[in-house]
Amino acid sequence: MKKSLAIIVIAIMLGAYWLIQRSPETVSAVGAPTPLVVIDPGHGGWDPGAVRGSLYEKSLTLEVAFRLGAFLQRRGFRVYYTRSRDAALSSTVLRDLTQRAYAANRLGASVFVSIHVNTEPSGTMAGPIVYYTRESRASYRLANLVTENLAASGYHHPPRPIRQWVLDVSHMPAINVEIGFLSHSGDAVRLQSAQYQALLAEWVANGVSRFLGR
Ligand SMILES: [Zn+2]
Repeated sequence: MKKSLAIIVIAIMLGAYWLIQRSPETVSAVGAPTPLVVIDPGHGGWDPGAVRGSLYEKSLTLEVAFRLGAFLQRRGFRVYYTRSRDAALSSTVLRDLTQRAYAANRLGASVFVSIHVNTEPSGTMAGPIVYYTRESRASYRLANLVTENLAASGYHHPPRPIRQWVLDVSHMPAINVEIGFLSHSGDAVRLQSAQYQALLAEWVANGVSRFLGR
């Protein structure tokens, strides 16, 4: 009885090993690991981010994040979202941001893309801007490739270096794509459009794809 149980356990373990080895999630056809892109929709839950009337940054970032993830998955990348619903990762901003970066580090992500919406008091600035960690040349290259593609929006703000906790703590090339200005009336309208959200996602995906050599 004991012997047959041991045989069953060994058979299950061998089966599980075989499945893991063959999983397209972890190994590509040529044996190289499939790059993992960690997408970080800014804010969530108690933290709405920028607000304009009933329009919340946390909702826009999630919408665009999902669209970006879909584009990247269609191109064969693995995707992980730091949040996939309207919830913060912690009750303090610092711990929330730390957990987002730690998730990317733990998973060994190839690239970390945070999505946010800008705001400024004059209401005149518009268009997407990509921020990157000053110390990382790879992050700068990634920021440039994404910026090149975002120029299709009609705006071409050069990428900007920034000291930002979530980017600084991440171990891989990391950028923060501020997809537009909620303080700008034109951007506020555009950012709600499903069509524009899809375009933004596609432009960012194009830049990330090129960075990862695809
Ligand atoms: Zn934000």
